[in-house]
Amino acid sequence: MESPIYLDNHATTKIDPRVLEAMMPYLTGNYGNASSELHIFGWTSKEAVDFAREQVAKLINAKPEEIFFTSGATESNNLILSNKEKILTSSIEHSSVYNVCKNKILDNCGAAREIKVDQFGTLDLGHLKYLLTVCKPGLISVMLANNEVGTIQPIKDIRSITGVPIHSDMAQALGKIPIDVKDLGADFASFSAHKLYGPKGIGAIYIREDMQEEISPLMYGGSQEFGIRPGTVNVPSIVGFGKACDIAEKEMSSEVEKLKMLRATFFNILMDRLSIFDYHGSEDNLPGNLNICLPCSNMYGLFSEIGTKVAISFGAACSSGDYTNLSRTLKSMNIPDSIITRSIRVGFGRFNTKKEVALAANIIADAVEKVNGGK
Ligand code: PMP
Repeated sequence: MESPIYLDNHATTKIDPRVLEAMMPYLTGNYGNASSELHIFGWTSKEAVDFAREQVAKLINAKPEEIFFTSGATESNNLILSNKEKILTSSIEHSSVYNVCKNKILDNCGAAREIKVDQFGTLDLGHLKYLLTVCKPGLISVMLANNEVGTIQPIKDIRSITGVPIHSDMAQALGKIPIDVKDLGADFASFSAHKLYGPKGIGAIYIREDMQEEISPLMYGGSQEFGIRPGTVNVPSIVGFGKACDIAEKEMSSEVEKLKMLRATFFNILMDRLSIFDYHGSEDNLPGNLNICLPCSNMYGLFSEIGTKVAISFGAACSSGDYTNLSRTLKSMNIPDSIITRSIRVGFGRFNTKKEVALAANIIADAVEKVNGGK
């Protein structure tokens, strides 16, 4: 059993040993620049990047030429959104979408330009339809799976109801649920490899073939990534990303069952031991996600009690540590502040076992009892 127990798989995941193995040759002997066209070092690297592009494309049913490697979802989100002026987005987006859109003024929408969600964190399509009567966005940006409560958004419905081009941040969904960008009708989508057992600092953007003309790069430089993303291509990480997608494609369906089992094990122990707490999100959310409110009188005390033993989080990693900054996602779901301040996010992953998940739940329950002044 691994100690401490890692249950923060939304923040990032442990690299899969098979991914590391695939990357190693490109960190050692095959160190060529994929843009070196005149020798075997360059050809080997270029071939590896092309192969990884096919692996990523396959997982989301895109064409390889619709995939552009970036440093991750933050960059991918910024790249697409910086190309558009009038963007309608939801109130529960990751900060790399939300903070870009915040600075874009949408005529006539005023403060209402954020699409609301219901109490489960699912997009309110009625509100979206209303917003479209008062403003004319050039793009709608809605994430496929939320990073705090794991809710899956109806991207296909949004695209077909509105007829407006759609960008979707799919960082949390990739490798966790089946994604078919063609069926969803997505025009643009963002991904990060480290959310699916790949390396950090690498990701991609999907840009539908007929939308590519509209997109300019964020930075200027060489012609790498077809001019969309200049800079020497990160071959080892791209190879790792491709391998992570290949593994996910083959193992996703069995992994879903395992994650649901781990979640149920953890949940049932806490239910038995602590009896009352609220559960946030919908039942058909991401299989590895659990967002619950603990009957705990001192969350600082709880985290200092368990921090070296169990890794869980309080909201999104990008804003965690700031207990005064309440989760925008949970607030949008109309959850009272007193519940939000006692809510935790638990993320189960590929390398967790039933035994360690049960132990983690008991460690948390012991700590809650301790800080509440009980046993
Ligand atoms: N979008 C979502 C939904 C995320 O969860 C994250 C990672 N927390 C990102 C975007 C940003 O990913 P990265 O930090 O890899 O750029």
